[in-house]
Amino acid sequence: MKTDPNCIFCKIVAGEIPCAELLADEAALAFVDIGPLAEGHTLLIPKAHYETLDQMPADLAASVLRHLPALAAAVKKATGCEAFNVLQNNGPLAHQVVPHVHFHIIPRSPGGRFQFNWPAGEYPEGRMQQLADAVRSHLT
Ligand code: AMP
Ligand code: ZN
Repeated sequence: MKTDPNCIFCKIVAGEIPCAELLADEAALAFVDIGPLAEGHTLLIPKAHYETLDQMPADLAASVLRHLPALAAAVKKATGCEAFNVLQNNGPLAHQVVPHVHFHIIPRSPGGRFQFNWPAGEYPEGRMQQLADAVRSHLT
């Protein structure tokens, strides 16, 4: 399994740093985020060290992500939140601070601290299709 001795999440996986564990199996670990954006803020990670999502093998990603529905449902029931976001940051520009893939489950309640804006734009004629063609050409 890929691991990085300097990575804080690898240290949690190895049991060298404690965490408030929620679930664990051979591929995945979930624990409570130590710096919550809201009560019950949860992290789901692969046990193996991959820096960003695009580097992960698909079958490993599936083994980790299969836990998301039940985990989110449990967080929702435990916190009583009325909504939640799943957030996954890749790269410092996208606010990734810990370079080990992780999925945030962030409970949302009215008046909560965590806010983000969603500045939707629009495409000029033809550009959306150009982009679709470009992305499709890179899918294997
Ligand atoms: P990101 O900005 O997406 O890289 O998020 C990293 C997250 O890891 C933050 O929400 C931190 O609060 C959380 N975090 C960092 N160290 C720990 C730790 N030892 N235990 C639990 N959560 C942590
Ligand atoms: Zn790691």
